[in-house]
Amino acid sequence: MPFWDKHIETLPRNELEDLQVKRLKDTVARCRKTVFYRNRLKSVDESQFSTPEDVSVIPFTTKDDLRANYDFGLVTVPREEIVRMHSSSGTTGKATVIFHTIKDIETWADLVARCIVMAGANRADVFQNIISYGMFTGGLGLHYGAERVGMLTIPSGVGNTKRQIQLMHDFNTTVFHATPSYILYVSEVMVREGFDPKEFDLRIGFVGAEPHSEQTRQRIEDILDINAFNSYGMSELNGPGVAFECEQKSGMHIWEDSYLLEVVNPDTCEVLAPGEEGELVVTTLNREAMPILRYRTGDLARIVDDGEECSCGRTHVRISRIKGRCDDMLIVKGVNMYPSQIEDVLMSFPEVATSYQIIMDRAGKKALDSLTVQVELYPKMFDGDLKKLRTLETDITRSVQDEIVVRPKIEFLEPGSLPRSEGKAVRVVDKRGEM
Ligand code: AMP
Ligand code: ZN
Repeated sequence: MPFWDKHIETLPRNELEDLQVKRLKDTVARCRKTVFYRNRLKSVDESQFSTPEDVSVIPFTTKDDLRANYDFGLVTVPREEIVRMHSSSGTTGKATVIFHTIKDIETWADLVARCIVMAGANRADVFQNIISYGMFTGGLGLHYGAERVGMLTIPSGVGNTKRQIQLMHDFNTTVFHATPSYILYVSEVMVREGFDPKEFDLRIGFVGAEPHSEQTRQRIEDILDINAFNSYGMSELNGPGVAFECEQKSGMHIWEDSYLLEVVNPDTCEVLAPGEEGELVVTTLNREAMPILRYRTGDLARIVDDGEECSCGRTHVRISRIKGRCDDMLIVKGVNMYPSQIEDVLMSFPEVATSYQIIMDRAGKKALDSLTVQVELYPKMFDGDLKKLRTLETDITRSVQDEIVVRPKIEFLEPGSLPRSEGKAVRVVDKRGEM
């Protein structure tokens, strides 16, 4: 099985942890160059650190801290050494900006190259990067990694779906990167344009940047006849290349020589044991321009704790699929749920096409919450057989209720009815605050 950097990817745990401690000390020292961290770290003595767990004496860094230090407040190098700025794609509040030195860009490209090779791609592949370029990190992040691996890289970005398909066809694209929702849309357009989605040379897909269920991954794999690998990252931690699936597809290896991971209870901030689900908290271990300590990512997942090292030979721990962001949690009729739970149920029905939307409303005299799930079905379901549709409605309603407790109202739509997004899909509409 190929590796990009076999030495570091298979480093024995004790050596990996020693490296983490060394890099953690260096990172804390570097952070002290900023006023913010100098104040925050007054009571921290990193010279006493002897295990990675010692990180827990450091206070957390939050998105609000990044905002408060807008613009250059957390930069630890002279301005002339900064070569790149990125930003998170959040739509609320002031943007959080991240800066990189040339060495940071190289380290990042190297981490992404590890992911690409881990998924089985190589320099003989043609790579189409079907994701937004610009301040969003998905485009340039994979782009630099792919060139480092030596793949022919097509920076096609998002949009102009017919042209994407034309490029795939004309240049025999074998590997792509896209959000799961956009690649599913591309597959729909392929069918509409008279192509069989399986007829292309595609063999590997990197899908990420938004929560998606295992069922959705399998959909993508079946429709396009490829292997799809989950890719996790965020601008605050460079972007893609933080954690990625290997060929085993049993969790995403997080590159622990560069990222020190903790999982905490999002309410109490208590550090949780492997296997317990909580918020990912990450410290960068190898960043020059803008190191971040104990960053509260807002993302919910757990460390895969099956008691064994991954059979791929990599020693870096694996994290589960991301359930969603802590703030993605929906509360309907007092019950907590995540959109990904509903998605998982929907995608297990072969009649259900690739898009859906969850609508929460509050109506009626008692002003009770209602939960409607609009579901696109494949065209063959609209052949006039109402009994078939009613049976499906009953089955989906029951399965969703089994999963989330609340009974949803299911509405069927023809394919293509719901709005499509080229980036991260909008799955939830909450009308409860509206008049
Ligand atoms: P951005 O910084 O704009 O790239 O957004 C990063 C956020 O996207 C993360 O904090 C996650 O909430 C989400 N995200 C990225 N990759 C994944 C993934 N593979 N699965 C689920 N959510 C993801
Ligand atoms: Zn593995």
